[in-house]
Amino acid sequence: MASVLIIGAGGVGSVVAHKCAQVPEVFTDICLASRTRARCDAIARQLPRPIRTAQVDADNVAETSALIRDVKPQLLINVALPYQDLNLMEACLATGVDYLDTANYEPVDSAKFEYHWQWAYQERFKQAGLMALLGSGFDPGVTSVYCTYVLKHYLDRIETIDIIDCNAGSHGLPFATNFNPEINIREVSARGRYFEDGDWVETDPLSVRRRFNMPEGLGSLNVYLMYHEELESLVRHIPGLKRARFWMSFSDNYLKHLEVLRNVGMTRIDPVAFQGREIVPLQFLKALLPDPASLGPLTKGKTCIGCQIRGRKDGRPRTIYIYNICDHEACYREVKSQAISYTTGVPAMVGAKLMLTGKWRGTGVFNMEQFDPDPFLAALGEHGLPSQVFEGTVFR
Ligand code: NDP
Repeated sequence: MASVLIIGAGGVGSVVAHKCAQVPEVFTDICLASRTRARCDAIARQLPRPIRTAQVDADNVAETSALIRDVKPQLLINVALPYQDLNLMEACLATGVDYLDTANYEPVDSAKFEYHWQWAYQERFKQAGLMALLGSGFDPGVTSVYCTYVLKHYLDRIETIDIIDCNAGSHGLPFATNFNPEINIREVSARGRYFEDGDWVETDPLSVRRRFNMPEGLGSLNVYLMYHEELESLVRHIPGLKRARFWMSFSDNYLKHLEVLRNVGMTRIDPVAFQGREIVPLQFLKALLPDPASLGPLTKGKTCIGCQIRGRKDGRPRTIYIYNICDHEACYREVKSQAISYTTGVPAMVGAKLMLTGKWRGTGVFNMEQFDPDPFLAALGEHGLPSQVFEGTVFR
């Protein structure tokens, strides 16, 4: 029996609202608030039961705190943008409310994916007796839970992790991103980075490519080595890790568009003088690209996200691949969103459910791999994202 305040009414916020509304025994009262209230109201009209909606500027701590005092939630679910993370954590501290998000803080003016800004809140959350759960989406999120699940049930120690995020679906448009275009392009354009033998190794953006054969007859795709934020927390929390890498699939068409956009300066995040005012090219590009929430009815095919984890069991090498396959069209039938928003929004609801029912509890700031993976994966399967385990090598 709990009240939650969801901030952000984009593709992911819509799924979180739908999924919380499906679990009335835990989420008794729901308020969905965002910069544009009309988007909250449009989502509310799709839900099976009434929820509250509100307008809020999540960059404004006083305004958010006033909303929290009015709504009186036990938990704030942040599915706005990574820029808002610290201000929303401040508002939670000011009002005595737990916090959950799906992406780590990024300063607007530099595309850095680092946890230190949010880890710095550890003592303040602890002293306030509050809990913050960071990165409860799919990646980051489920991918970290997969690692601890494999460590708990299949291995004595983990040596290497390869997180492989494939989207074998298509929306049929010339160019669109599956989640917020600005955040997506900042992430994809960043330099690659992976962890090996105690050091971080950097690569040029998207310069390392492999072919990956997806399970269950989904076919094969090119995957590219990227930096992704859960690598930092996994390296911190999984002792003895020798190597951790992250791979994501991109179509040739997506990469061709991205290259041209980069070459002409449209992916720049620094302000440029234009007709007497300053604009940030990437923010302008976002205004031109399709809204990810509009891709739901167009997207067909499946996503396949998983981890290949190597390690030792009873002194012998062992390799496990654990993954989820999610169907874009089935997601749309259920919650009117494509699978990228769905695979983020369901784990956010599940993380919230475990916090509110006391299955994942603590005071301070936590990453997903710090808790028992079993209740999370059980609830994830129950709420639409079942996991499969395969023993053997699928990726080299
Ligand atoms: P969208 O751009 O579709 O939605 C973002 C929402 O936040 C919009 O409704 C927007 O309002 C709102 N918003 C932005 N700024 C503010 C503000 N200052 N105050 C209040 N509301 C604000 O993004 P997505 O739904 O695709 O992504 C949401 C989050 O999920 C992002 O942080 C993203 O990085 C994360 N994510 C995580 C993944 C994971 O697996 N862990 C995967 C995919 C996404 P408006 O409607 O007015 O623009």
